Amino acid sequence: VLRRLIRMEKMEVVSHLAASISHEIRNPLTATRGFLQLLMESKDIPEDKKKYISIAVSELDQAEGIIRYYLTFAKPTPEKLEVLNLEEEIEKAIRILEPLANMNAVDIRPHLHSCKMVGNTGFLQQILINIMKNGIEAMPNGGVLSIYTKQDSSKVSIIIADEGVGMDEAQKSRLGEPYFSTKESKGTGHGMMVVFRLVETMNGSVQVDSEKRKETTITLIFPALSETTKKILLQPRPGILFKP
Ligand code: ADP
Ligand code: MG
Repeated sequence: VLRRLIRMEKMEVVSHLAASISHEIRNPLTATRGFLQLLMESKDIPEDKKKYISIAVSELDQAEGIIRYYLTFAKPTPEKLEVLNLEEEIEKAIRILEPLANMNAVDIRPHLHSCKMVGNTGFLQQILINIMKNGIEAMPNGGVLSIYTKQDSSKVSIIIADEGVGMDEAQKSRLGEPYFSTKESKGTGHGMMVVFRLVETMNGSVQVDSEKRKETTITLIFPALSETTKKILLQPRPGILFKP
């Protein structure tokens, strides 16, 4: 009993620390990201320079994702749930990655319907950007990145398909492992770890279809917005954390 109490106490300290550090670091990151996005919309900056802003934004998102991962570890429920319009969310992510896509001669082709789900917009942006960025990076000599949405009575799916280098079985099974990256100094191996973790917190699942030197398709499946899910998910939930 005593050992369990000490462990709980330790967990409490760690999660408290994680949450406050994350909070302190995320504030300046969010501000920086906001200013970068303002620059992105500026007409005085030539398109070919905007790719640097785009890279900066996606790198900030990567950093934010790592922090969020630890914050989520400390606090497993997303802080805010809302009704998300997938078409709008995906278009927002595309706008951020467009300059990076142009730099790699990648054509992003969205085929979107207006599907709705309940979730957290910050989490969903992070998920979409991390997956789309991998798709773009898998096509260094250009290609098409297709994004589809599908909805049936109980679920919504987001399908992101590239025509890139693909993955073999060993790579696929290591996907999402912290620090697993084949990009040497250019990769951190955090992107998919964050994706898996965040999708899980929104009650979704990730399906990976890929073969070496063939296209890779990532399918995200989330519960569709039904009256019942809306009711259950939008209900305030008591904190899961142990509080003294
Ligand atoms: P990083 O992008 O920093 O390497 P990720 O977690 O995002 O880390 O991805 C891990 C690894 O999974 C990549 O290095 C790559 O080998 C592989 N991978 C992920 N997405 C794709 C994709 N769309 N096509 C081919 N390989 C991929
Ligand atoms: Mg990545």
